[in-house]
Amino acid sequence: MAAAQNGTVILKNFINGQWIEAGGKEALEVPNPATGKVLAKVVLSTKEDVQRAVRAAQLAFQKWKDVPVPKRARILYKYHHLLTEHHEELTRLIVQENGKAYKEAYGEVQRGIECVEFASGAPTLMMGETLSCIAEEIDSEMFRYPLGVVGGIAPFNFPMMVPLWMFPLAIACGNTFVLKPSERTPILANRLAELFAEAGAPAGVLNIVHGSRDVVNGLLEHEDVRAISFVGSQPVAKYVYERAAKEGKRVQALSGAKNHHIVMPDADIEKAVQHIITSAFGSAGQRCMACSAVVVVGDNDSFVRVLKEKADTLIIGDGMEDEVLLTPVIRQSHRERVMHYIEAGVKEGAVLVRDGRKDMTGMPEGTFIGPTIFDRVTPEMIIAKDEIFAPVLSLLHAADLDEALLYIRKSRYGNGATIYSKDAKAIRKFREEADAGMLGVNVGVPATMAFFPFSGWKDSFYGDLHVNGKDGVNFFTRKKMITSRFDF
Ligand code: NAD
Repeated sequence: MAAAQNGTVILKNFINGQWIEAGGKEALEVPNPATGKVLAKVVLSTKEDVQRAVRAAQLAFQKWKDVPVPKRARILYKYHHLLTEHHEELTRLIVQENGKAYKEAYGEVQRGIECVEFASGAPTLMMGETLSCIAEEIDSEMFRYPLGVVGGIAPFNFPMMVPLWMFPLAIACGNTFVLKPSERTPILANRLAELFAEAGAPAGVLNIVHGSRDVVNGLLEHEDVRAISFVGSQPVAKYVYERAAKEGKRVQALSGAKNHHIVMPDADIEKAVQHIITSAFGSAGQRCMACSAVVVVGDNDSFVRVLKEKADTLIIGDGMEDEVLLTPVIRQSHRERVMHYIEAGVKEGAVLVRDGRKDMTGMPEGTFIGPTIFDRVTPEMIIAKDEIFAPVLSLLHAADLDEALLYIRKSRYGNGATIYSKDAKAIRKFREEADAGMLGVNVGVPATMAFFPFSGWKDSFYGDLHVNGKDGVNFFTRKKMITSRFDF
């Protein structure tokens, strides 16, 4: 899984059931974002490493596709059992390499386990369709088959959940898989592979190749890779979608977000603030479903006051400590990017109600930013338009629900949106007209569960079939139609 060099752990690739050193020369440190302590080093693999992994996956596919579906599902039951048994260990690994709070990481592991639970239903999920008598003495049947080798490319913010959106279902459907985890959170992926092998997955069915661009391009170019499942930032998602489609691959690319929460005049302010705080500042705002813009409808002075008061009480620190909600952003480079956005907001004339740059945590090695709130933001401002991916929240004001919905429509992104209200008419109008794929009604993080599609719209998603649910099964299978005549 890893070798030690001068006391530093060097992560290896997992290819054909073996832990193999990557061929690349460059290695990146993987620090704990809260403490700066280097946890491991990850070598950036080469295209040759990718070819090796795809070859192993292609060979494994020849046998794996013929393993009876219930037998494949049984390996996933076992995997489910092992992940559950190791819930706390996996949680700690996430806290260390990603930096999020223990409770958030524990929830992420749970979400990942639920994906395996869903994939274990493969015998039912993969069922085809039949119709007898499409004409006299003629019947039609549809069977589902796997595609072959699938490539998965993951972001840093959900090191467990996102890879588990991908490989358990793909593999349950009979495909084999090459996963490229984020080079910023590569440690957990190796443990996921180790436990999958322990669950009985044959060599070559799941392979891990660590690295960055070269590995991604290696997967996109390889003719034996039939499909690509990508999750990450918007520019990369668009690139991966276009490139993979050009190479004739099936592709789903989940992208960035700017999620608006509408606070209606009748909303319970205390409860709305509680949900918004958790959504905007939990995981340091590094969630694709985080609230990053609030639209306050009507005159509601108390909302901004209560929000600021609550933000002032947040405990900032290492995710392993109790009561901590606000944890560090992933890297110093990201923190600098966020500082530029805060400066841009001030220059554009937004009112900095709470400046998180001033928050001290007593941990100078950690990449912390305190909760930052801008009021009087307008939809044209850069802080209202771009995904900042940090604990920076913009407050916009709208005269009525129509204007609030217009702000959502104007956004290039459409991952999620939430309304806080008890007014059934307003809620229904929001449901019908909000231009985003995952809506919440009095819910701060309306992320869907594994049996529903994770359903971003506009520039938050490139492709046709989303991850999870029936979409996931359709993405990872191809259909064959049989028409049979019986009066022959
Ligand atoms: P990222 O785009 O930097 O990286 C994602 C993956 O792409 C990584 O594996 C990385 O190695 C690779 N990559 C990065 N730059 C590349 C390049 N130039 N060419 C080829 N590959 C490249 O994203 P991130 O910072 O790791 O993750 C955060 C982003 O992911 C946010 O934008 C967030 O909204 C998004 N995200 C979206 C969803 C969703 O469901 N829509 C879920 C989680 C995260």
